[in-house]
Amino acid sequence: MDFSFTDEQVMLRETVRKLMDEHAPIKYLRRLDREQTYPSELYEEWVKAGFLSIPFPEAYGGLGGSVLDVVIIAEELSRRSADLVMAYAGSVFCGLNILRKGSEEQKRHWLPKLLSGDSKMSISISEPDAGSDVGAIRTTAHRDGDNWIINGQKLWATGAAAKNNVINVYVKTDSNARYQEGMSLFLVDNDTPGVKMRKLDMLGRRCVGTYEVFLNDVRVPADRLVGGENKGWDVVLSGLQVERVTAAATACGGAQAVVDLALQYAKDRKQFGRPIGTFQAIAHMLADMQTEVEAARTLMWRAAWMVASGQKALREITMAKLLASETYVKVASMGMQVLGGYGYSMEFDMQRYFRDSRAATIAGGSSQMQRNLLAGLMGLKV
Ligand SMILES: Cc1cc2nc3c(=O)[nH]c(=O)nc-3n(C[C@H](O)[C@H](O)[C@H](O)COP(=O)(O)OP(=O)(O)OC[C@H]3O[C@@H](n4cnc5c(N)ncnc54)[C@H](O)[C@@H]3O)c2cc1C
Repeated sequence: MDFSFTDEQVMLRETVRKLMDEHAPIKYLRRLDREQTYPSELYEEWVKAGFLSIPFPEAYGGLGGSVLDVVIIAEELSRRSADLVMAYAGSVFCGLNILRKGSEEQKRHWLPKLLSGDSKMSISISEPDAGSDVGAIRTTAHRDGDNWIINGQKLWATGAAAKNNVINVYVKTDSNARYQEGMSLFLVDNDTPGVKMRKLDMLGRRCVGTYEVFLNDVRVPADRLVGGENKGWDVVLSGLQVERVTAAATACGGAQAVVDLALQYAKDRKQFGRPIGTFQAIAHMLADMQTEVEAARTLMWRAAWMVASGQKALREITMAKLLASETYVKVASMGMQVLGGYGYSMEFDMQRYFRDSRAATIAGGSSQMQRNLLAGLMGLKV
């Protein structure tokens, strides 16, 4: 058994950390959160540093990295802000879908654009009446000569309005079939005529932004269909392992940042003439927080390793997502308690982690849905 990282992985972690120290100082993150501004200049730095290229094969201009590298990057970005991760992960997840399921022409067209930062990508599955129940989506596409016409409404689309963003829209192309056999994926530029977006006022994750997307007779050419007609569910499933384990890594990164903040505060803050961290009640809280984050990280890394080594890891990635996101929420709440009134103040960062953490147990499949899946894998019918 070997729990260590390679020299290259250690170097990658240090590179991401250094870049974030330099280009995403706390002042910058606070401003983005306050002004609800997309981190465009930071994204450019990620592109320059090759973070977008890392998981893609050299044949398409990538650096030939693995899911472990994506996980390292996500965890590090999230230590600064979980909000930022979806700007990175949206493009990476959608690009990997194209790599796995796109035609050779689509790979040659889209991957260089993504890797150079000329295009970004976001995911749109959810709709007002289709959240956990993905099969309830109502957005449709029908063929019109060489084009497809898309109509419908998407919700909670993270990063949809970013500059040069291509929304990866999942639609029904066969209303009579089960969703597994009747869904398709289309790539829709967010400035295509007929696309309208409204930014939603959310509790957290305020810089990359969450959008409602209206699609009204949106015409796209046939080469925007990825994976084939009615094969959208195959695309979703093909990306599940990487997406879920990256979500777990994001939660772990945010949770560790919370522990670091609370620990430093407990050492600095004095009451009754001594640091509050010397009160057993606070010290034990911090010990529990770190233990729980470490447990979540260990499960997450095991799941990531299984995915990277080509093993079936549905059980492990699901457990990792569940535990990491629940841990993030739990430690963020404890972190608020450690900071007392300062935790509740918008002038301190704990509240930002607390707000961002609340999305972790909902987005990318809620904790209840992870438990349903796990119970099913254990032979229970729920
Ligand atoms: C910040 C944020 C960003 C997001 N970004 C994206 C994005 O980029 N693209 C995208 O497509 N979607 C995105 N989503 C949507 C996300 O995937 C959905 O919110 C999620 O799948 C849950 O769907 P819902 O909100 O409709 O809740 P619902 O499905 O209505 O669920 C409501 C509650 O009921 C529970 N529940 C539902 N069904 C069951 C069941 N069978 N058993 C037990 N409990 C159940 C849920 O766990 C939840 O607690 C985002 C969401 C958030 C909060």
